[in-house]
Amino acid sequence: GAVTRTPLIAGNWKMNLDHLQAVALVQKLHWTLKDAKHDADSVEVAVFPPFTDVRTVQTLLDADKIPFALGAQDLSAHDSGAYTGEVSGAFLAKLDCRYVIIGHSERREYHAETDEVVAAKVQAALRHSLVPVICVGETAEDLQTHGASAVPVAQLTAALAGVAAGTEVVVAYEPVWAIGSGQAATPEQAQDVCATLREVVAESIGADAAERTRILYGGSVKSGNIAGFMRQPDVDGALVGGASLVVDEFAAIIRYQK
Ligand code: PGA
Repeated sequence: GAVTRTPLIAGNWKMNLDHLQAVALVQKLHWTLKDAKHDADSVEVAVFPPFTDVRTVQTLLDADKIPFALGAQDLSAHDSGAYTGEVSGAFLAKLDCRYVIIGHSERREYHAETDEVVAAKVQAALRHSLVPVICVGETAEDLQTHGASAVPVAQLTAALAGVAAGTEVVVAYEPVWAIGSGQAATPEQAQDVCATLREVVAESIGADAAERTRILYGGSVKSGNIAGFMRQPDVDGALVGGASLVVDEFAAIIRYQK
């Protein structure tokens, strides 16, 4: 990524780690990075625990002055009321969440989240000053029929409709075929789509915002392939699933320059 954008390495835990396991992982990760004398200002680290862990992780980060950002994996499109089982962005903001993942392919696939739902959730996040981490990506079938960019471009265009110029957002390009498959995109494939997505951000919320927007790659990121992605001019970090659950592996991803 460009020097003006602080790289963001984000750990999407998905439905893994209860709140006790969360404490253990966050503490271990912090100590591992401290032992390695990792410069916390050079790379932003964010963790995305399940909802039931968020309060616990918030308390730990605060008590031990651990410099990780906190995020949630989803939120409701509504702010409060009769929506059984939903979690409001207002609650997440109160717990010092800075980020919220929106439109992850697992939510699109298993919870039938449409582009309209994703756009409504982006608006909900922004109402509570949460930075949406907007996930887009094509399936293997999309790739065959439309090429790599068409679906991500359509998804991002829809998600950013109605977002004010200059708004801070994060975009995560996650090819569905690369998620959890061990088959990551090549750095060149990721760069191609991320560059195109930056043009979409520019058209939607302005060229200045596009220059500042972190665009992440996600899908089978490991310590062995992170450096190749980070060398690309339009890849500003990674959204890491499986490898974010293994302390040494996630620490090595964060320390990709070393
Ligand atoms: P993975 O998941 O790193 O396990 O492929 C990435 C994601 O789904 O965010």
